[in-house]
Amino acid sequence: MSKSEEWIALEQKYYAQTVRRQPVVIVRGQGSRVWDADGKEYLDFVAGWAVDNLGHSHPVVTQAIVEQAATLLQTSNQFYTVPQIMLAQLLIENSCMDRVFFGNSGAEANEGALKLARRYGKLHRNGAFEVITAFNSFHGRTLANVAATGQPHYQEGFVPLLPGFVHVEFNDVEAIMNATTDKTAAVLLEPVQGEGGVVIPDEDYLKRVRAWCDQQGLLLMLDEVQTGMGRLGSLFGYQEYGVEPDVMTLAKGLGYGVPIGAFLSKQASMALTFGDHGSTFGGNALTTAAAYAGTKFLIENNIPDHARQMGEHLLMRLNELKSRFSFLTGVRGKGLLAAIEFESNITPQVLTHANQAGILLNGVRPNAIRFMPPLTITAAEIDEGLGRLAQALGKI
Ligand SMILES: *Cc1c(COP(=O)(O)O)cnc(C)c1O
Repeated sequence: MSKSEEWIALEQKYYAQTVRRQPVVIVRGQGSRVWDADGKEYLDFVAGWAVDNLGHSHPVVTQAIVEQAATLLQTSNQFYTVPQIMLAQLLIENSCMDRVFFGNSGAEANEGALKLARRYGKLHRNGAFEVITAFNSFHGRTLANVAATGQPHYQEGFVPLLPGFVHVEFNDVEAIMNATTDKTAAVLLEPVQGEGGVVIPDEDYLKRVRAWCDQQGLLLMLDEVQTGMGRLGSLFGYQEYGVEPDVMTLAKGLGYGVPIGAFLSKQASMALTFGDHGSTFGGNALTTAAAYAGTKFLIENNIPDHARQMGEHLLMRLNELKSRFSFLTGVRGKGLLAAIEFESNITPQVLTHANQAGILLNGVRPNAIRFMPPLTITAAEIDEGLGRLAQALGKI
C-alpha cells in the first residue's frame, strides 16, 4: 500500500462517511500547487473550495498567524481585541456596508443574516418573516440554511424544515415579484450560483431585484460566501452588477485558509442589537489577524483585478478545449469562478484521469466540473493545468 492508501484506509475506519472524497491525501501546499502523501505534485484548481485566494502558505498570511499565535488566540467576545477591530474597519471602509459581525463559517454567516431578516421584519414590516431564495442555490448545511437552500436533495432527509422560505427560479425578477407578500422580509441570493454549477445571471438581474426590494421595503441580502473577496474580479460580487445589497455574507475567501465567516449590514438594516446574537469563537484574534493580513494584501496588490484578467485567460483556454473535445458542450465563468459541462454524466471519470494527470478539480454536477483556483494563479500555471486536463480528457 502507498502512504496515501494507508491514510485513506484509516479515514474510512474512523471518520464519518458523509463526504465523498477524491483519493488524494494532501500534505503540503505552496502557491497554486499541492503535494500528496507520496510526493506527487498537483496544480490546485479547487483551492480549498474557493478559500485559498492567495494560494497555499502565502507568507503574509503565514506570518500573521505565527505572530498572532505567539501573542493572543482567544479571549471571548466579552472583551475587545485589536485584530477583530482592524478587520472590521478594513471591510467596512472597502465595502458599501456599515456594520460587521464575525462567525466561523459561511453557514454561520447566513444564519446571522437570516436572524437579522427576522428581526427586521418584526421591527419594520409588521412581523413579516419570509425570505425569498432561489432554486439551485446553496446557503450551507445548518437547518436554517438547508431550508433556505433551493435544492431538494439537501432537504429531503431533514424534514420538517424550518418554515419561512419561499423558493423561486434564479434570474427571474417576475418570480420574486409574484412571490412577495406582506409576510416577506427579505430576498437572499448569490450574485453567481456557485455550488449550483456556476450559474451567471443576466447583467440587469440584481439591479431589477434591487429596485423591487426598494419599492417594497424588503432587504436585499447577497450571499457572497463564494463570490466575495475578489473571486469574480471585483472585491465583492455586487460591484460587478452595479448594486448595493442591504446585507452581505462572506466566508470562504475571507480567511485565506483559516475558518472565518461574516455578515455585514448597512446601518439602516442592522436590526440586531445587544443580546440578539453572539459567538464564542467568532472573530477571535487568530482568525481575524489572518483575515486582516490577507485582505490588506489582496486590496493593496489589486488581486481582484488580476483575478479578472486570469479569469479571461482561463475562459479562453477552456473554450479551446471545447473546440477540441466534442463531448465538452459548455463553458461559463466570471472572474476565477468557471465551469465546463459535458454532454453526459462523466464527471467521476474525468476527475480520476485529472488527478492522475496532476490537476485538482471540483465535480460540481454529474456532468460539470468547477474551476476556482487561487486568485494569485499565473497564466503559465493555468496553461500547465489545462494541459494536464487536456491529457485527462484525451483518455475519456
Ligand atoms: C460554501 C457556501 C456556503 C456555506 O459555507 P460553509 O463555510 O461551508 O458553511 C454558503 N453559501 C455559499 C454561496 C457557499 O458557496
